[in-house]
Amino acid sequence: MKIHEYQAKEVLARYGVPIPRNAGVASKPKEVRDKVAQLGGKGVLKAQVHTGGRGKAGGIRIASSPEEGETLARQMLGMLLKTHQAPDGLKVEKLLIEEPISIKQEIYAGVVPDRVSKRNVLIVSARGGMDIEAVAAEEPEAVVRLPIDPLEGPHDFEIRQACYKAGLDPVLVNRLVSPLRGLLNAFVGVDASLAEINPLAVTEDGQVVAADAKIELDDSALFRHPDLAAFAEESEEDPLEAQAHRLGIAYVRLKGEVGIICNGAGLTMATMDAVQRAGGRPANFLDVGGGAQSERVKTCLGLVLSDPQVRGVLINIFGGITRCDEVAKGIVMAKNSLEVKVPLVVRLAGTRAEEGAAILAQEGITPAATMPEAAEKIVALTR
Ligand code: GDP
Ligand code: MN
Repeated sequence: MKIHEYQAKEVLARYGVPIPRNAGVASKPKEVRDKVAQLGGKGVLKAQVHTGGRGKAGGIRIASSPEEGETLARQMLGMLLKTHQAPDGLKVEKLLIEEPISIKQEIYAGVVPDRVSKRNVLIVSARGGMDIEAVAAEEPEAVVRLPIDPLEGPHDFEIRQACYKAGLDPVLVNRLVSPLRGLLNAFVGVDASLAEINPLAVTEDGQVVAADAKIELDDSALFRHPDLAAFAEESEEDPLEAQAHRLGIAYVRLKGEVGIICNGAGLTMATMDAVQRAGGRPANFLDVGGGAQSERVKTCLGLVLSDPQVRGVLINIFGGITRCDEVAKGIVMAKNSLEVKVPLVVRLAGTRAEEGAAILAQEGITPAATMPEAAEKIVALTR
C-alpha cells in the first residue's frame, strides 16, 4: 500500500528524521491561503498523489504570499497530474503546505529489500533530486548500495563509508548518519517495502531535512500497524479496489471489458491469458479464494458487475476444497438479487461440478466444458 508524502513524513518524523515545518494538508483554495499565512506568508504547495515526478509536472509550486497560494491552489486542486510514472494522470485532491526551504544540495536516500543479498539495502547518492532514475541508468556507480546485516544493523562507520563512496563531503557525512539511520529504522519499524527520501535536502544553513518522502507499506504486515491502516482510507486507490480491499477480496482493476472470477491466483492468471488469447481484454483480476461459500461468490459477482466497463463475466472455478455447487448457488443468488444485465459464462471442474451444473441449468445457464471454450464464448458475447 502506498501512502502519501505527508503521511510518510509523519512516519519519518516519528523516527527522528527532520522534516520541513508544515501546516498540514488542504483540499480547498481558501484553506491553502490560511495555511500559507500560518507559515508566515510563503509556502510550498505539494500535490498529494501517488506518483513521483510531480515537480516536473507542475505538482509542486511555491507561493510567495497567501493570495498567490490561493490562486495556485485553484489551478492545482482538481487537476489531472500526468507524470512519467502515471501517464493517465492522477486527480489532485489534496495539497500539503510546507514552509519553503532553501536547498543547497539534494541527496537521494532509500531503503528496499534486495532479493539477491537477502537483505535490506540502504541506497545513497549524491546526485539526488528529480533525475535520479537517469543517474541510476547512466551512472550506476553514483548510486551506492549498502546491504544491512539484519542482526547487527549498520554500524555508523558503514553508513559513513557508503556516503564517502557516494562522493559526499566528509563534514556533511557526519550529519547524515542520524537521518539515514532514522530512515532505516522507519523502514523496518513500519514493515515497509520501500522507503525513500528524495531529495534529502541540505539547506543553505547546513540543516539536513527530508524535503520529499515516499513509503510503501507491506499489506501483509498492515495488521501489525492499526495506526497506519487508517492511512489506507485516505489513499486514492481505485474506489472498486478500495471496496474489494475492505471486503477482503483479492481484486485488481484492469482496463478491459471481460470480468473475471476464478479461484486461486494461478487459475485466475491463466484465465486472463485465455481471454486475451481469444481476443478479449480482462476487466479485472479476482481470486475468490479457496473454499469460497455461495455468499462470497455473490459478493464477488456484485463487485465485478459494479464496474461499468464490464460487458460480460467469466467465472472459471476448479473445485478442490471449493465446491462447485456452492459456487453455483452463489451465482444463482447473485442473479436473483442483483440486476445482471451482462452475459455470464461459467466453467466448473472438479469437486461437485455436476451438482453445480445442475443448479445452474435450472437458471438456464449451461457451463462451458473447457477453459478455452469458456474464454471464446465470453469474448464472442462481449464483442
Ligand atoms: P517529486 O518531483 O514528486 O519527487 O517531488 P519533490 O517533493 O521531490 O519536489 C521536487 C523538487 O522541488 C525537489 O527536488 C526540490 O528541488 C524542489 N523544491 C524547491 N524548493 C523546495 C522546497 O522548499 N521544499 C521542497 N519540498 N521542495 C522544493
Ligand atoms: Mn522527490
